[in-house]
Amino acid sequence: MTAHLIDGKKFATSLADKIAASVSIIKNTYQVTPCLAVVLVGTDPASQVYVRNKGQQTRAAGMTSIEHKLPSTASEAQLLALIDSMNKDEAIDGILIQLPLPEQINEASVIQAIAPEKDVDGFHVVNAGLLATGHRGLVPCTPLGCLLLLQDHLGDLSGANAVVLGRSNIVGKPMAQLLTAAHTTTTIAHSRSCDLPKICKQADILVVAVGNPEMVTGDWIKPGATVIDVGINRVANPTGTDRDYRLTGDVDFVSAASVAGAITPVPGGVGPMTIACLLRNTLIAGCRRRNIELDGY
Ligand code: NDP
Repeated sequence: MTAHLIDGKKFATSLADKIAASVSIIKNTYQVTPCLAVVLVGTDPASQVYVRNKGQQTRAAGMTSIEHKLPSTASEAQLLALIDSMNKDEAIDGILIQLPLPEQINEASVIQAIAPEKDVDGFHVVNAGLLATGHRGLVPCTPLGCLLLLQDHLGDLSGANAVVLGRSNIVGKPMAQLLTAAHTTTTIAHSRSCDLPKICKQADILVVAVGNPEMVTGDWIKPGATVIDVGINRVANPTGTDRDYRLTGDVDFVSAASVAGAITPVPGGVGPMTIACLLRNTLIAGCRRRNIELDGY
């Protein structure tokens, strides 16, 4: 079997187009332009690329993009003061603090300082609690992107056996909650789970988010299963002509694609969906804060 390739880049582009169309309607009808503020602390090269991409795509969708850059020596108090001013700024709809943060700054304190209605990453405990209890909140972008890809490919997920490999607060746990809400029978596996290949092989839907390059191989996968590879890992690429590294997922793509029914590639799978869902969350936050009805999301 050769798996169908789930094209996250194409889906993300169509989602971004749909968001841009909604932004245009909201601008014309309510004279409101949703605004995303992103904060970068330090000069981590990967974070700089992510922040630049987020700014470009926010502007391309017709929204306002604000970027704050703090030095790597910035104190937690400085960052908290900036968050406080953005919480109070009526023009700002979404606040995103690019992670990781320098070691002198406590990540959890910073995330909890963001006003939950502006927490477009969906990491605040209020949003985590709303998701866990089936209430309306802001949902973390990466798992939301995975769910949208799954529903686009499979339609109704009811009754499917889903396995989520990884239990982080930003990917694994919210992913499992979204899948449960979509009526799958959901198993969460992690580094202490026994016999991971056996657990994974029971999955009709397998979402892998472990941060371990190419850990899941074809012999872990049920024939015909749908595999979503969240992992983004930089591995050495000594023979590469332009770069000394290449990006790879947490799934061994070649062996998995020979067994799975469908699979996301890395890059070009979940990654583009994460930014598209950030735009979606910013649009939703902007509308909810102003009691503007928004259909179709
Ligand atoms: P974390 O490191 O926070 O969590 C990893 C999870 O995987 C943990 O629950 C850990 O288990 C589990 N795990 C690690 N190693 C193993 C193993 N050998 N066997 C079984 N379970 C294991 O990572 P994240 O959730 O933040 O990210 C996961 C991956 O997704 C990374 O590659 C990251 O780069 C990528 N990512 C991609 C995004 C995108 O936009 N596409 C966005 C966010 C993340 P335990 O809890 O027991 O330690």
